[in-house]
Amino acid sequence: MASSPEKITAAVEALPKAKVPPEVQKVADLQAQRQQLAQETSLTAWISANILQPVSKALENLKADLNKLFGFGEEKAAEITEVVGVQLSEWQEKLAAPAAPVFSFLKGVPAPITSDFGDRIDPMDSTHKKHKKHRGIDIGVREGTPIFATKPGKVISSKWNDHSGNVVEFQIDGDPRVYTFHHLQVPGPVAGTVIRPGGQIGISGHTGGRSTGPHLHFGVIVGENAIDPEAFLA
Ligand SMILES: [Zn+2]
Repeated sequence: MASSPEKITAAVEALPKAKVPPEVQKVADLQAQRQQLAQETSLTAWISANILQPVSKALENLKADLNKLFGFGEEKAAEITEVVGVQLSEWQEKLAAPAAPVFSFLKGVPAPITSDFGDRIDPMDSTHKKHKKHRGIDIGVREGTPIFATKPGKVISSKWNDHSGNVVEFQIDGDPRVYTFHHLQVPGPVAGTVIRPGGQIGISGHTGGRSTGPHLHFGVIVGENAIDPEAFLA
């Protein structure tokens, strides 16, 4: 009988631990690992299509331009391109690192995901028909819920935006991704503020014209592109 990996994992979790036969536990563990791998692979595939491939092309063009515009010889152009290439590949490696939780709420605070990332009916559209891409994930928390960093980092901007209210952009040390927090109750820490693990990034609220109720909007941005933040939740 066919059964989905999620069902098997859930069934095994529901059994009293001592009674799980080791071979069943082994299958459940392997399936959990496979799911984790699939999640990481989809991020890697996205990075390859959206960053690695365009970057290799850009480097090829750069080499040709250096040659043509400045009369650099083939060898010198290749040398310069390589320096740029090495830096970019270091950046890419960091991007491809598996996702880890970026923030947490206090233990026991109910925080259901109320709206997923991606295509959705625009909640602000009165006809309830128009689609608009959701560039993050919504988490249903009460106004005034503090948001704590799980990793050391820095606030890179803290601004008011008519749509998104008080917005904080946060970056983890050594991680080129930008993590965004919208509709905060009060302005967040000023740009440049260093945040230690357990330090406060902001306080959730209901500010800005595009908020239909108290919630936290959390986004993950790579370059200009928003990616699915679900893998970055605790
Ligand atoms: Zn949102």
